Amino acid sequence: MDCSTGMIDTVENSSQCNADRVAISPGPTTTFNYLEPVNRSPMELFKEFQIEAAHRLPNVPEGHKCARLHGHSFRIRVSVDGPVDPTMGWVMDFADLKAAFQPLYEQLDHNYLNDIEGLENPTSEVLAKWIWGHLSEKVPNLSSVEIRETCNSGCVYTGRLSRNNSLAR
Ligand SMILES: [Zn+2]
Repeated sequence: MDCSTGMIDTVENSSQCNADRVAISPGPTTTFNYLEPVNRSPMELFKEFQIEAAHRLPNVPEGHKCARLHGHSFRIRVSVDGPVDPTMGWVMDFADLKAAFQPLYEQLDHNYLNDIEGLENPTSEVLAKWIWGHLSEKVPNLSSVEIRETCNSGCVYTGRLSRNNSLAR
């Protein structure tokens, strides 16, 4: 793990990606329009963070490589949506989003995720929901939390109602 990286504002390059993986450019978040309610704002704002963390997955079948202790440079994209303030010209201040995430960054970065309450089985999906749960009170217009545990593997949690009107799980 690269300890000099620290907290970054944007994904600058893909140099930390494993050579055997296909590097992808940090484009816009994949959208899942079929799940989105019609009253969503057309403007979405995001901020990306990176944490270095260790984990293991305790519930995988015997012999699965993810049962072994290992680490990732997790990339976390936090998105909000809402109206663009006509005076400020923004949905919200990036600095406010960064400040809201900061306590979670400090809790997660350079730590063993399995030791954190609620992250006993720290898959990307569980981590995304955990971040949503801790961030949504401070950031009421939170629209998605995206986790990339490698350059080409990750998940997006929207915390919204799914198409069949049951709560997203
Ligand atoms: Zn892993």
